[in-house]
Amino acid sequence: MNKTSPISISLNFDSINESLGFPNNFYDPSYFAGFDRVIKILNKYNIKISIFVIGKDLKNKEVFARVRDWASYGHEIGNHSWSHFHNLGSLKKNDIDNEILRSHEIIEKCTNKEPEGFIAPSWNTSKKVVSKLIELNYSYDHSIFPSFGLPVLYLKDALNHIGSKRFFRIIDRKDWMYHFFSPKKPFFVDSYMKKIEKKEKKKLLIMPLPNNSKFFIPIWYTLGFIFGWKFFYNYLNKFLNNNEYFYLLFHPADFTSNEDIPKKYNNYLQRFNISVEKKISILEKIFLIISKSKRKCVTMKELARQYIKK
Ligand SMILES: [Zn+2]
Repeated sequence: MNKTSPISISLNFDSINESLGFPNNFYDPSYFAGFDRVIKILNKYNIKISIFVIGKDLKNKEVFARVRDWASYGHEIGNHSWSHFHNLGSLKKNDIDNEILRSHEIIEKCTNKEPEGFIAPSWNTSKKVVSKLIELNYSYDHSIFPSFGLPVLYLKDALNHIGSKRFFRIIDRKDWMYHFFSPKKPFFVDSYMKKIEKKEKKKLLIMPLPNNSKFFIPIWYTLGFIFGWKFFYNYLNKFLNNNEYFYLLFHPADFTSNEDIPKKYNNYLQRFNISVEKKISILEKIFLIISKSKRKCVTMKELARQYIKK
């Protein structure tokens, strides 16, 4: 274990716009007042992060300009698909290609750089997803949840959505066991999603969520809301002190709440009844823990390049 190895912070930009089903003319505060709260903390510690955006959100001119600003500050903009279908990996090849490509193109237009990293919605991946990423020269994919917990998590989520369209999308995945059998450390795959050596040419680096045991759940921010923050801060410290490979994933729901959106949209969203004040204090505590660990934070793209070179 190399305790000085850099780490990353990734933001899966599951916007409020997406959670509400992309309502017409919706002003999404997660891109504005919401993310400004995060930027304040990032600037305090001079940290650059990787932000995975939903392509469709960038159709809004103000959002597009915002994301462009973030890229100009040095944050990485990655691809989180065009419409965030929870069954991305199970769609037809043509639809998967479009979901990845449309978002790829709008990000390139926005930042003047081709995105290099991808995260599948709900970590729902497949060979077709991987082969499209390889075709578009992606360096890395962050869609692996190396734990028995993935089927548990999504079967539970499906139960919460019985009777809605979302139920079928949640259970529509082919990778139920793939995550469990994947390595916990970064590894390379070919277009058939088979593990290969890094010297091979057409390959993709997979950066799984950090986990110590496949019989427990990987660490990501939402765990704090599930198991409590005392547990989470300890768990985070343990990873920062012991794991060479570490990236912390968080979401807009971690820095926005019902206070940010008109009342008619309230109550739909998970974790939105917790106040902005409380969420900011959690965010500050987490960044304080990270800064105290003395591990350098770089973007996932930079981290991926180091793993590819090694
Ligand atoms: Zn997502």
